[in-house]
Amino acid sequence: MESSASTPAPDLSDVFAYVDARRDEFIQRLIAYLRMPSISAWGTGMGEVAEHIAGMLRGLGLVTEVMPTAGWPMVVGRYDSVADAPAVLLYGHYDVQPPDPLDAWVSPPFEPAIRDGRIYARGAGDNKGQHFAQMLALESLLACRGALPCNVTVLLEGEEEIGSPRMPDFVRDHRDALRADLVITSDGPVHESGRAQILFGVRGVLSFELRARGADRDLHSGNWGGVAPNPLWTLVHLLATMKNARGEVTIDGFADDVLPPTALERAALARLPGDLETIRASLGASALDAPDGRGYAERLAAWPTFTINGLHGGYGGPSSKTVLPHEAFAKCDMRLVEAQRAEDVFAKVVAHVRRHAPGVEVIYQGAMDPSKTPLDSPYTAPLRQAIVAAQGEEPLLVPALGGSLPEYVFTRILGVPAFTVPYANADEANHAPNENIEVARFIAGIKTGAAMLAYLGTFARP
Ligand SMILES: [Zn+2]
Repeated sequence: MESSASTPAPDLSDVFAYVDARRDEFIQRLIAYLRMPSISAWGTGMGEVAEHIAGMLRGLGLVTEVMPTAGWPMVVGRYDSVADAPAVLLYGHYDVQPPDPLDAWVSPPFEPAIRDGRIYARGAGDNKGQHFAQMLALESLLACRGALPCNVTVLLEGEEEIGSPRMPDFVRDHRDALRADLVITSDGPVHESGRAQILFGVRGVLSFELRARGADRDLHSGNWGGVAPNPLWTLVHLLATMKNARGEVTIDGFADDVLPPTALERAALARLPGDLETIRASLGASALDAPDGRGYAERLAAWPTFTINGLHGGYGGPSSKTVLPHEAFAKCDMRLVEAQRAEDVFAKVVAHVRRHAPGVEVIYQGAMDPSKTPLDSPYTAPLRQAIVAAQGEEPLLVPALGGSLPEYVFTRILGVPAFTVPYANADEANHAPNENIEVARFIAGIKTGAAMLAYLGTFARP
């Protein structure tokens, strides 16, 4: 990877010393924030927490608004006064998952407790501990330097944990207020190996259901077999036209927009830890999914999938029942990669089904586009160097996550590169009881946040 060799590394020793000197204070302030529930799914505490975090942004001198949506509000703070420096959008979310089951928590979810070097509370890692670290990074830079090294917009949404339903329209409608050269999200865990990582993309997802019908009621297979059609066979035959045993998705046109990994991405994928044989054994599976010949990270990041989530109909109980079912259902999802579009892939699925099994209904059940930022983005080098400066180790470069997040709102709607730089430990137990963040990672997150802005600030806008 190229480095911006001509720009001298910024000296951050004053900022790092400032963070170290305030370690206990910063932990106590995070604890105070974690004490405030903000459960979007239940509507608990949302307005109060939005105002609380907006107050902190205002205290830092950011021009801040709590912007209403049809759901929970967005909090947007802007610092826009550094000529010629990049503008960075820092995205996070102030809502948390519901805490249940409550009796599985060692200490109550909204009474933060420190044990064994970790802060335990709902939201500790996902995402309050991480965006609070970004805000403390701004505070520390402002305290040490009197100004930020680049322009910053903080965007905190209140509905990430319920699927970000308002994000696409909000970003579309407020393009100008959110204008930036790049987006940084600190969410999710570091790599399973404990190494820092920069994530450059996510796979998209498309969910749908296939419904086949035969007669208008279930029938006796002896009295009606050979006469009435069997919708389960209809689905089995249809599904067999959609993916073959070699693992290739054979839906007409499906592969048209799949961009194979670049040489740079292949090299980055090959460097990621993850031995296929160990993974196969850990899954208790006798074989891996087809096709062979692809590494673990490449399978998750670089190629689309077609998964039958469930195939239902007729009888599945004990012993036997000679029924001829009258309806059958297949629940399916697809993980999509650059440059596929969920809407376009769904149209191809519908066209394929019309051609091969005209009577089968296709029901759309939601989608999210994939997102990808090129590994050779001009911002990769300063972000990498900043992580090395703050954490003392090279981050892994991960071309894409296997799962799906609404990153496309930044890369496609805003049209800018988007990077995820997680601060939480791999066992943060997000969405689970005893969610936690290691204190050391929270403090390293503050330093990393400051370093990323400082390194980006030395970097002339491309
Ligand atoms: Zn979450």
